[in-house]
Amino acid sequence: MNIGKIFVIAYVILFSLYMLAGVEKDITSARNLTNSLESYLKYSDEILAFTNAIIIDGTGVSQKTGQTLLIHNGIIQAMGNQGEIEIPKNATIIDLSGKTIIPGLIGMHNHLHIPRFPFLGDVAAKLYLASGVTTIQTAGAADAQKELELSKQIAKGNHIGPEIIPSAPFITGPGGNPNMIIPRNEEHLRDTLQYWFNQGIKWVKVYRNTKPEDLEIIIDEAHKNNVKVRGHLCSITFEEATLMGIDGIEHGLNSTADFRSNKDYGICNGGREYMDELDISSTKVKELQKLMIENGVTLTSTLSIYEASVPNRAYASSKTLELMSPYLLNQYQERRKRLDAIKNDLTREQRLKRIMEFEYQFFKMGGLLCSGVDAGRHVLPGFGDQRNFQLFVEAGFTTEEAIQVMTGNGAKALDRDDIGILQVGKKANFVILEGDLSKDASTIEKIETVFKEGIGYDPQSILRDLKGKFGQP
Ligand SMILES: [Zn+2]
Repeated sequence: MNIGKIFVIAYVILFSLYMLAGVEKDITSARNLTNSLESYLKYSDEILAFTNAIIIDGTGVSQKTGQTLLIHNGIIQAMGNQGEIEIPKNATIIDLSGKTIIPGLIGMHNHLHIPRFPFLGDVAAKLYLASGVTTIQTAGAADAQKELELSKQIAKGNHIGPEIIPSAPFITGPGGNPNMIIPRNEEHLRDTLQYWFNQGIKWVKVYRNTKPEDLEIIIDEAHKNNVKVRGHLCSITFEEATLMGIDGIEHGLNSTADFRSNKDYGICNGGREYMDELDISSTKVKELQKLMIENGVTLTSTLSIYEASVPNRAYASSKTLELMSPYLLNQYQERRKRLDAIKNDLTREQRLKRIMEFEYQFFKMGGLLCSGVDAGRHVLPGFGDQRNFQLFVEAGFTTEEAIQVMTGNGAKALDRDDIGILQVGKKANFVILEGDLSKDASTIEKIETVFKEGIGYDPQSILRDLKGKFGQP
């Protein structure tokens, strides 16, 4: 055998090995994280049985105690009363006496950016996961390309985080934020949308200055391509957007232009006295909500970010302060000084109560209410989602209803039947909480383990690595 032949054979063998390794990695990557991420793992057993648990399943029905949950290869295989579920001999058994299992949270307004920072994806994704959020729809991207890329990296197992359902860049209109897309004409608008749809985008978010004629084009182009449209509205009323066929509306009462005084058609203007004067239980509000419900429009609640502007409530928790970068910490302290000066002003406190009332009524009337964090100020990704739960309870939702809004309803809005509720055949996306959530709303913050597709992550080890890292310039 001559040297040339040896080289050829060696090359063929090495190339085959390389290809095999590549194929192998593709098949197993969803379950096998890159080595550097392994320190965050708590459980990766093939078969896990959780016993003696309190289970809130995400459908809104009452919680059940003494439950067994069995997962196999990332899927829920059985769930039910203790003793009625057969536990396989090779299962790892974990006793959850006194602990609650809820579905993984689905954040429906969960950006990967905050004001001044167009992309905080790496840290934000970890924070979401460590807080029990296993799926996010980002509701507008400040850096859509990076968002798409991170979404793919997480799906491949090269990065930890929630499943990311990315968005196109925000679209607005004349006078709006110049960092967003402001359509020049119909062709420009349709071409831009097509570009992002071709990249795999399934959600478009319109912002406050969008022209009504542009929203009509956006909805038309999106729906033709099986893409959904949601809006943080102002120039367009909820009623107008609903009649145009919008899929989702953000923030609720605070961005309802329908009741502004002296508002011009298609313009974001007019008085906001309604925030202090409107009777939420009045016929005109109920008629508007009924119209949204009949047309299948989702309402996304973002209570925690609103609370962060209420002077007597806008305090960062100690765990939040630990994660903030020095820059954000400084911003927070400056803001707190301004708020301290108006601490006795209850205007925004009362507005928060009205926003809550508007959402509770929409939910009770049968509307598809979802929730999201809309991170900003001192409201961090994930932590703000947890705070939303507590605010829902304050607003009058039962524990089960609040969890339904934050899990099952999100899945419905996303048209997903593989996530959102705990049921046989669904993905094993769930959160184990240390305590009985129905007895104490702060239990939502006491996360023992977060499971995403059957892999158990340790929130403490994730958070330890993020100290001082959120919001670095
Ligand atoms: Zn937002």
